[in-house]
Amino acid sequence: MTEPEKYYASYNCIHKLCQKSAVEMLDKIGKPDVIVAIGGGGFIPSRILRTFLKRAGEKNIPIQAIGLSLYEDMGEQDKIGTEVVRTQWLDFGALEKNFDSLIGKNILIVDEVDDTRTTLHYALTELYKDVEKKAKSLGRDLSGTKFSIFVVHNKVKSKRASLDKKMMNGGIYISGADVPDQWIAYPWEAFDIDLQTKLAIEQGHN
Ligand code: 5GP
Repeated sequence: MTEPEKYYASYNCIHKLCQKSAVEMLDKIGKPDVIVAIGGGGFIPSRILRTFLKRAGEKNIPIQAIGLSLYEDMGEQDKIGTEVVRTQWLDFGALEKNFDSLIGKNILIVDEVDDTRTTLHYALTELYKDVEKKAKSLGRDLSGTKFSIFVVHNKVKSKRASLDKKMMNGGIYISGADVPDQWIAYPWEAFDIDLQTKLAIEQGHN
């Protein structure tokens, strides 16, 4: 059996998808107040995006990192379930000291790829719960708090989870590109970056 072909992405291609998506984002939801980068794949896209979301003379958008890992587990009746484990979460102390809370903010969650959507669903739900809890404790309401999502690539396939529009509260979902359900090789994982770039160009992803 031959191995299924991978989808190779170059740095240039990712940079341009972030640039294009930043324009759409500014147009539809305005400048985010904070970017929540899901590590490690969301880190580089978040940093690129920030370049294009900032206008001259404005402050940089803060980027907060969170870490999530997916584990397949055997649930009830031998059904395979997916468990998400937090390996890193928001630094609320630093956020509140330098930035105030997330209540009322335009929040952008960034990851490199939306595959089964499990990770994005978890990140949105848990971040929403955190902000909701904080708002309750301060007697404030959540009405202006908006969650948007950006992924560089969205795999076109049936998803295991969905994103709650009510939680997003007018926030949007943007993918840089909708792609087939193939394994995507990212440049930051490449041992040979010249070969990675060559293959990406050959596939037209540059
Ligand atoms: P999910 O299935 O929750 O949407 O994606 C889980 C995570 O698996 C992603 O954040 C990403 O790190 C990883 N992943 C899923 N599909 C791919 C892929 O095609 N290439 C790479 N490099 N990582 C992937």
